[in-house]
Amino acid sequence: VKNFNAGPAALPLPALERARDELVDFASSGMSVMEHSHRGKEYEKVHDEAIALLRELLGVPDSHEVLFVQGGASQLFAQIPMNLVEKGRTAEYVVSGAWGEKAFSEAKVATAMLGGAARVSCSTGVGEGKEKSYTRVPRPAEVKVDPESAYVHVTSNETIHGVQYEVDPGRPFPAPGAVPLIADMSSDFLWRRFDPARFGLVYAGAQKNIGPSGVVVVIVSKELVARGRKDIPKIFQLRTPAENRSLYNTPPTFGIYMIRNVLAWLKGQGGLGAMEQRNRLKAQKLYAAIDQHASFYRSPVERESRSVMNVVFRLPSEQDEERFVAEAKKRGMVGLKGHRSVGGIRVSTYNAVEPAWVDELIAFMGEFARGA
Ligand code: PLP
Repeated sequence: VKNFNAGPAALPLPALERARDELVDFASSGMSVMEHSHRGKEYEKVHDEAIALLRELLGVPDSHEVLFVQGGASQLFAQIPMNLVEKGRTAEYVVSGAWGEKAFSEAKVATAMLGGAARVSCSTGVGEGKEKSYTRVPRPAEVKVDPESAYVHVTSNETIHGVQYEVDPGRPFPAPGAVPLIADMSSDFLWRRFDPARFGLVYAGAQKNIGPSGVVVVIVSKELVARGRKDIPKIFQLRTPAENRSLYNTPPTFGIYMIRNVLAWLKGQGGLGAMEQRNRLKAQKLYAAIDQHASFYRSPVERESRSVMNVVFRLPSEQDEERFVAEAKKRGMVGLKGHRSVGGIRVSTYNAVEPAWVDELIAFMGEFARGA
């Protein structure tokens, strides 16, 4: 099956096969990794290796911690403002899609509880309510940051709308000077290089390019961890995983084991440089196919903001879209239906999606457009 799902997404087959082979007898111990103590040397080796691989692949500087947190990226929507917005201060949200809206909405509640505030300082949304649409990230000049803000939050890739920041040039991430930049990179992680030192905090739910859902990878500057509030429950303080190698309580050991397998696979593929080249080519070909059949397929996203990870497009009618998804499924291509809130088609091209699957999909798109 060629799995184009947006998340949970396809995992690299070798990482799954390794898990299959070790499932009931991990490290010749006669039991599964899930059954090992998280304080035992067999599991700890996997745990430390996963963190070391993340540091190596991403080039994380010593100034930043790499943490595993539970609860999904949605938990971080609340946990970040709880930690980082002091009484009387405000956090800024740059919203370019539905996930940014959700992050802001949780920040509003969390900061109100703790005497701070959150505001949307820039939004690219057009329209209201259910009709609201997002087709681009902001231009640099549109993001004006108050130097007193606690941080600026962006969603580097909006998984539903297919809207993504470019590293350089294109539409770069905002550069808020001394104000820490925070990015939800859930669907934008581990496929390209970026400079972690530019960010106060980066977080990513694992279920796209990293591993199974539930685990979140957090890269955070030691300075922000130290500055974090102490008047919130210990389990939500970022210093808790930071001071305990992410082993304060029982971590999702199997999830982290799978992450280790995926990272080892990624390193074997040539790391982020090789992955970026492969992913950019897949996306380029898909957008070229959409543009080539412009009377049939239409990308709603502005060219400079088109996502490499989630390629969204529309067909002339919803009936055409339903037929497209059904026909593709018959050929073993699944996960192509757009998010229920926006409709259309969404092709997710994460690391595990083979270039040959994309070529096959493009051939099908041509055939479908001609036959419709
Ligand atoms: N942020 C982005 C950009 C996402 O795509 C998602 C979900 O897929 C989330 C946050 C929420 O992640 P989770 O389901 O792990 O809470």
